[in-house]
Amino acid sequence: MREGPHSTDDIDESVGGDLFDRYFTGEHKAVKAAPRTWFITADYVNLAAYETDAGLLLVDTGTAESAETVRELIRKETDAPLHTVVFTHGHLDHAFGLKPWLEAGERPRVIAHENVVRRFRTYMRTAPLNSHINSVQFGIDENISWPHKVDEFAWPDTVYQDRLTLNLGGERFELYHAKGETDDATWVWAADRNIVSGGDLLMGILPNCGNPQKVQRYPEDWADALEAIASVGADLLLPGHGKLVQGADVIRERCLVTAAALRAIVEQTLAGLNAGKNHEEILATIEVPADLAKNWYIDPLYDRPEFIARNIIRKYGGWWNGWSAELMPAPMHQRAAEIVKLAGGVEALAARARELKDSDPALACHLAEWAALGAPDSREGHECAIEVFEARAEDEIALMARGIYNHAVRRSEEALEAMDEAQSS
Ligand SMILES: [Zn+2]
Repeated sequence: MREGPHSTDDIDESVGGDLFDRYFTGEHKAVKAAPRTWFITADYVNLAAYETDAGLLLVDTGTAESAETVRELIRKETDAPLHTVVFTHGHLDHAFGLKPWLEAGERPRVIAHENVVRRFRTYMRTAPLNSHINSVQFGIDENISWPHKVDEFAWPDTVYQDRLTLNLGGERFELYHAKGETDDATWVWAADRNIVSGGDLLMGILPNCGNPQKVQRYPEDWADALEAIASVGADLLLPGHGKLVQGADVIRERCLVTAAALRAIVEQTLAGLNAGKNHEEILATIEVPADLAKNWYIDPLYDRPEFIARNIIRKYGGWWNGWSAELMPAPMHQRAAEIVKLAGGVEALAARARELKDSDPALACHLAEWAALGAPDSREGHECAIEVFEARAEDEIALMARGIYNHAVRRSEEALEAMDEAQSS
């Protein structure tokens, strides 16, 4: 095991709590992870700084909000000129912190996988969409701001496709393309230091590989990337989120177990598709094998196994879920209104939803949603939806699911507020 000057507090060795407890630290700090190597944490995201004889290599730059703090932290450690920046992918928390460096007069080359450029162009076209879905995902009331102007992006000046070797001051840094949470990922092996900067490929939770609101993820390629990381035998891994991982055996095990969990979900999903099952039947069979699932570092705190399966279904099949009426469905409001009517009124439906809230929360959510949508002008349906979805969110450990349930709560709260306003005016 590497003799590092960092304290055990900086090493990821266990834990509990939900995603916010684990990752949203509010802390900003630079830890010397190895000689001439710093691991910088900026609240919930990390980046790495490697000092070389040619100058400084930054792997990621963090968020726009933390950028100046991050630069100051690094500048307290080293005054080596910024020589090269590599983006592990083009997400907002990793590739948007370059500005203060440029304003300070640094002129680094910026390297990324070629799909980062494509991603930035897509962001420019879909800023309102991304603003909305991320607000839902993270439970933020106001729509967050999303970059859309050309000068808000740090456009790479060097792109690559599969692999790129950098020689910085006589030292070798290997860049490998990967697909996982994104199609534009890069992980970096600092070969002469035997350190990997892993981006978001390994972050101590079940991979975010099925995100309900976002574009295609790549579970099989993700497993390939984790196996490739395991194969280099690095004894320090600096992740894009969470604490650093120390020890070649530990890194190898976490990579291989996480990859095996992804492969199990892929195989179960494909088996279901091949057997002609419909989506719902497939999802009911998805289970991470117990010998893998027992490991805390694949806890489904962010994404869920069945969401990953849905993403695989989308990759290999079409969008039709197998129920005939769902092919060209009646509008949801109309269906809900009909159910309210058949139930004999919104009160009966809401009462049954409350009755089922603890014993069958999934079914209760259907009834509550029908109550709110089928009788949109009644307080009863919305009050029921708030109660049932709030309870569901409270019991849910995956942030992706919690965000969507809490969004249902907010929607009904807004409907009630609008009713109050209409009454008082
Ligand atoms: Zn990230």
